[in-house]
Amino acid sequence: MPVIDIPADSLFGIDNLPYGVFSTPGTTPRVGVRIADTVIDLAAALGDTVFAHPTLNPFMARGPRAWAEARARITELVRGEIPARALFDLADVTLHLPVDVADYVDFYASEHHATNLGRLFRPDSDPLMPNWKHLPVGYHGRSSTVVVSGTDIVRPRGQRKAPAEAAPSFGPSRRLDIEAELGFLVGVPSKPGEVITPDEFAEHVFGAVVVNDWSARDIQAWEYVPLGPFLGKSFATSISPWVIPLAALEAARIDTPAQDPEPLPYLRGREKWGLDIELTVEWNGHTVSRPPYAHMYWSPAQMLAHTTINGAATSTGDLFASGTISGPEKDQRGAFIELTWGGAEPIDIAGEDRTFLEDGDEVTISAVAPGPGGTRIGFGEVRGRITPAIGAEI
Ligand code: CA
Repeated sequence: MPVIDIPADSLFGIDNLPYGVFSTPGTTPRVGVRIADTVIDLAAALGDTVFAHPTLNPFMARGPRAWAEARARITELVRGEIPARALFDLADVTLHLPVDVADYVDFYASEHHATNLGRLFRPDSDPLMPNWKHLPVGYHGRSSTVVVSGTDIVRPRGQRKAPAEAAPSFGPSRRLDIEAELGFLVGVPSKPGEVITPDEFAEHVFGAVVVNDWSARDIQAWEYVPLGPFLGKSFATSISPWVIPLAALEAARIDTPAQDPEPLPYLRGREKWGLDIELTVEWNGHTVSRPPYAHMYWSPAQMLAHTTINGAATSTGDLFASGTISGPEKDQRGAFIELTWGGAEPIDIAGEDRTFLEDGDEVTISAVAPGPGGTRIGFGEVRGRITPAIGAEI
């Protein structure tokens, strides 16, 4: 019965315990929990068949009491001895998409990002639209193209029309970009007509992941008026394989920035809590940005309350993402369109001037949160490499 070695500075210590879905050669995917660089097979270690499923959905649907009980049992296991058959080296497992994603909604909750994008997309008007400080602006994305970290991203094709061009043309996107975001996963669903108030967030939401909402800016800029993003976003959204339980993010809770004007009552909770999480964006191995989640204007609880206030139901596996995380400084911007100011200000990547993504480029986004007692909680990373567009010209 081995004891797991947990380095004191591990980002995956006993206060983290994220869930994922893994397999080893010749075995079916199942739920595991990560501790340091070890994966614990939970069905084998705890004898609960809810963890034998190839997604987290059945466990997420059980609700916060079951989540707390499982976390307590896993903590006890990790402090003691675990059967060797339930332990795997991280390096020996394949990580899969951890959830069967039901609906996918993406918000736009960073004031800095919304302001920057407003200036770039609508240079002749106010950067923030009149609704922006009254409601968390969002749109419905495409759940079937949510992929796990490590999945190659095929450059999308579509209609593009630069402002100076007289007519649109069709072809591979010339302005392929990233969006560094956090995503939140609904575990306990809600019925049609049932509102999840900001104070009920933790009754429904299971945990968080890092998201890269790949975006084709040229396709987006031409198509988005007046109904919002469509094909410029729906070709791929990558998420990190480890789902950080809300319980591991207690020490990361902070107040949101001041909200003025005060939101309508349905968007007010007892406390407006955000999260002190720092992301890191690497472009071909070079750190280009450190977006701080702490600056996000709208809280995750407000986003979920807004999603359900019209009577819309939620499902186990619903993913809602924050929108691009950008801070006030240039090196805190979570998208390349902002970092390079629409391509006008290239950045240096290993001696090359770069603006948007080229074929073969790889982007890795990671995140770290404060944990209890000076520890740190790692999210791991979401990574993707761009491969050339496919198909004949049309
Ligand atoms: Ca986005």
